[in-house]
Amino acid sequence: MKISPEILNLVPYKPGKPISETQREYGLTTVYKLASNENPLGPSPKAMAAVRHALDHQHLYPDPSHYELLHTLSKEWGVPTQQLGIGNGSDELIDLLTRIYCEPHDGVLTSVAAFNAYEVSAPANRAIIHKIPMKEGYRFDLPAIADYFMAHHESKKIRLIFVSNPNNPTGTYAPKMELEAFLEKVGNRDDVMVIFDEAYNEFVRATDYASAQNYIKKYKNLIVLRTFSKIYGLAGFRIGAMVAPPEVIEVFNRVRKPFNVNDLAQVAANAAVQDKEFIERSQQTCWKGLDYFYKKLEELGLPYIPSQGNFVMFDTLRDAAKVNEALLRRGIIMRPLFNYGFKTHLRLSVGKEHENQAAIQALAEVLKEIPTLS
Ligand SMILES: *Cc1c(COP(=O)(O)O)cnc(C)c1O
Repeated sequence: MKISPEILNLVPYKPGKPISETQREYGLTTVYKLASNENPLGPSPKAMAAVRHALDHQHLYPDPSHYELLHTLSKEWGVPTQQLGIGNGSDELIDLLTRIYCEPHDGVLTSVAAFNAYEVSAPANRAIIHKIPMKEGYRFDLPAIADYFMAHHESKKIRLIFVSNPNNPTGTYAPKMELEAFLEKVGNRDDVMVIFDEAYNEFVRATDYASAQNYIKKYKNLIVLRTFSKIYGLAGFRIGAMVAPPEVIEVFNRVRKPFNVNDLAQVAANAAVQDKEFIERSQQTCWKGLDYFYKKLEELGLPYIPSQGNFVMFDTLRDAAKVNEALLRRGIIMRPLFNYGFKTHLRLSVGKEHENQAAIQALAEVLKEIPTLS
C-alpha cells in the first residue's frame, strides 16, 4: 500500500527519556528527570483534590463543550468563552490548526530552533515548513520572518506563522516592542493566521515581555496557545487551551473530536488555573532554580542562554551525546537537542532543589571525563 512521502519522511518526536527506562537500562534506582520542563512540585494540590472527587463518575462521557473550564478561563483571562478552545494538549491545537488552515503544499512559517511540534504537524498535514534563521543570542528574528512572509507568501502559499514566545528549547523571547512591530506587519490579514505559543507565559521574568493575549482585540488573525502541562503540573492529563477569533473557535469545534479532552483533565485544569498559591510557588521554584543553574554553569565555564522558561539551554563545549550518556549513567536525564541542530548543547529543566544540585554535581564530574572540542 502506497504511503505519501510526507508521511513516510516523518521523524518521530523524541520525548525526554522516561525515568523507568533509564532505571532499567542503567541498572539504577535513583534517577532524576530534568528533561521535559515538567513541574517539579507535581500537580496543583487543588487540582488533585478535584480529580479525586471526580473519579467516581468516570463511567460517563466527558463534557464535549468543556463548559466549566471555558467559563473559568473566561473569568481568569478576561476573554469571552466564544474565543476559547480546549485541546488534548497544545499539541492537538497545533495539529488541528495546521489541518484547518493548510491545504496540500501550503506553507507554514517559523524560526530555526522553534519548538519541534510545528515542524512535525506541517508535513503530517501535507504542508511545507519554512524556517528563518535566528538572530544573535539564539533569538527569533521577527523582522526577518515578517519580511520573508511579505516576499514569499504568495509563491509559498504561507497560511500559518508560528512564534513560540518564550521559545523552547532556547528559552529566549521577543520583547514587547518587537512583538508589536511584528503584529503591525502581519496582523489583520485575511490570508494568514499568526500563532503565538505561550507555553511558558507564567514563567517569564523579563519586564519587557508582553503576552500576545493583550492584542487579540486588535488583530483578527491572532491565535494564542496556552498549556496546562508546564506551570500547572498537568502534563500527564494532556490539556491545552487557545485564545482565538470566534470564527477560528467555531471551525475548530467542528474539526476536533467531540470528546477530545477527558473529564479528569478538564476538572484538573479548572482547579489548577484558580490555584494562585501553587502558581506562585511554582514560579519561585523555577526562578530560584534558574539562578542556581546560572551561577553553577558560570563556575563550570559553560556558556548558557538566559531563559524565560523553566529550563536552561547550555553549551557543554563537548560532544553533547557523550555528555548526555555519561549523565544518564549517573542517573541524570537532561535533553539532547540534536533534532534542533545543536550538537554540543543540552537543555536542563528546573527540578527540586536536591535534583538541581545532583544534576550540577554529575555534570561537574562528567566534564572532567570528556574532552572539550576544538
Ligand atoms: C511543552 C510545550 C508545549 C506544551 O505541549 P502540550 O501538548 O500542551 O503538553 C507547547 N509549546 C511549547 C513551546 C512547549 O515547550
